[in-house]
Amino acid sequence: MTALAESVWILGDQLSPTHPGLAPNRRVVLIESLARLNQRPYHRRKLVLIISAMRHYAAELRAAGYEVDLRTAPDFLSGLRDHITAFGIRHLICVAAAEYSTRQFQQRLAAELGIAVTILPNTLFLVERYPPARPPALMEPFYRAMRRQTGLLIEPDGEPTGGVWNLDHENRRRYDGRPVPPPLRFPPDVITSQTIADLADACPNAIGSADGFDLPVTRAQALAALADFITHRLPDFGPFEDAMSAEHELLFHSRLSPLLNIGLLDPLETAQAAVTAYQRGHAPLASVEGFVRQIIGWREYIYYRYWELMPGLLQANAWGAERPLPAWYWTGQTRMRCLSCVIERVLRTGYCHHIERLMVLCNFALLAGIRPQAVNDWFLECYVDAYEWVVTPNVIGMGLNADGGRTATKPYLASAAYIDKMSDYCKGCFYDRKARVGPRACPFNTLYWNFLSSHETRLRANPRLGPAVLGLSRLSAAEREAIVAQAAEILERIGEL
Ligand SMILES: Cc1cc2nc3c(=O)[nH]c(=O)nc-3n(C[C@H](O)[C@H](O)[C@H](O)COP(=O)(O)OP(=O)(O)OC[C@H]3O[C@@H](n4cnc5c(N)ncnc54)[C@H](O)[C@@H]3O)c2cc1C
Ligand code: SF4
Repeated sequence: MTALAESVWILGDQLSPTHPGLAPNRRVVLIESLARLNQRPYHRRKLVLIISAMRHYAAELRAAGYEVDLRTAPDFLSGLRDHITAFGIRHLICVAAAEYSTRQFQQRLAAELGIAVTILPNTLFLVERYPPARPPALMEPFYRAMRRQTGLLIEPDGEPTGGVWNLDHENRRRYDGRPVPPPLRFPPDVITSQTIADLADACPNAIGSADGFDLPVTRAQALAALADFITHRLPDFGPFEDAMSAEHELLFHSRLSPLLNIGLLDPLETAQAAVTAYQRGHAPLASVEGFVRQIIGWREYIYYRYWELMPGLLQANAWGAERPLPAWYWTGQTRMRCLSCVIERVLRTGYCHHIERLMVLCNFALLAGIRPQAVNDWFLECYVDAYEWVVTPNVIGMGLNADGGRTATKPYLASAAYIDKMSDYCKGCFYDRKARVGPRACPFNTLYWNFLSSHETRLRANPRLGPAVLGLSRLSAAEREAIVAQAAEILERIGEL
């Protein structure tokens, strides 16, 4: 093969400085595909993040001596064809896409392009970098196997640091008003400003606004964002991991998912940075273990489950939920304060943290019987960190339990009692957090007891839900009847809640 007759095609979510396809005698091709950018009405901040990061990445590779072809094309195939013709390419290398349909597309590429195509494993994920012989089906053993594989928080005798694998029970505090260090912000530079202008024309249907865009778009900025989190928010990350606040969207979370998901940060270096902070006495074990579990446990497990369950996962609907998504998911205009705060935040910034995604947005959708595919679409379109490999197992699997419990062993269901315990949303809400029936009863309460009542037999069979279902026996027949009747009425006028 003559020098530079082969190229590596790097996708917009693979912008790693150590991308396994990079080699001195190989061109790099990056394609801004108009079809992909407009496949859905994505959040504008997400599009700006990806395209600006691709442009910065191309500039950095050029500065490092690579021949880089960054091109705009109607779609990936025509972009690749034009690249191959322009440079006489005879061998194309790519790293397996994280998403199912793009990986299938890569597998058809040799036939489509008429040249040799090599697909390398996607070692941007640890589970592909250290493929376990037989990965366990449940998250906890999966996480322990990943701890052992990576050696993170593992003592020389093979035991977990601190003697326990999981410190979740220490991480359930309500926010107590302590100062929240704001994240580092990265205002648009020339490349990002140009990207914002270009995308205004190229993606007229994108949702949200790029105003206030402040995400890192380079490797150096991503490392600065990681260091900022480790120094300022990691120490309080654990205790307040599940807390929610109307005032603080981020609290002590990292806001690193957008960067991890496009390759600007590596999951191992990110988790290692937290472990180093622990070893230096800068952050307590409960925070560090909690963070490490999110990165090498949940994130990798979700990716692994996605590939186990696709393509059927996309259509899963184990609870037979068929109601359309209420229109207020697109405006935030509901009297339910928790939902209105969280939705307004997501539409504005493309971000809210994990517990709000799970215990507010998905919890309501599950209790109200919203069609899983409609919820999945909403999440895919609204978030800056949304990609099918991470959204679909989290939404259809974990959030809605529509995969028959294959991602999470229990449905995550909660009434207002949980939301009130973990947030300040209920104070000042139109609805009464204590009431299950009546004109001001919190819809979460009515729908929660209605869900338990309607699915009692099936839920009783799940040992992890025993105590919740047992609560039903404290309700009189008349109370149950009133709840079911009010739930029917709420669902009838769901668009006006
Ligand atoms: C319904 C639902 C939808 C979600 N959609 C997305 C999504 O589109 N993109 C996305 O990256 N994450 C998604 N998550 C996972 C998680 O909520 C986000 O990764 C997290 O909120 C991102 O914010 P952060 O970086 O501040 O996270 P932190 O709380 O600081 O956590 C650190 C990191 O852990 C990882 N992580 C933690 N939990 C998960 C998880 N369940 N799945 C995958 N990674 C995890 C993320 O990389 C995150 O950056 C979703 C979770 C749920 C329940
Ligand atoms: S009372 Fe109900 S609707 Fe209002 S904020 Fe609390 S949980 Fe949400």
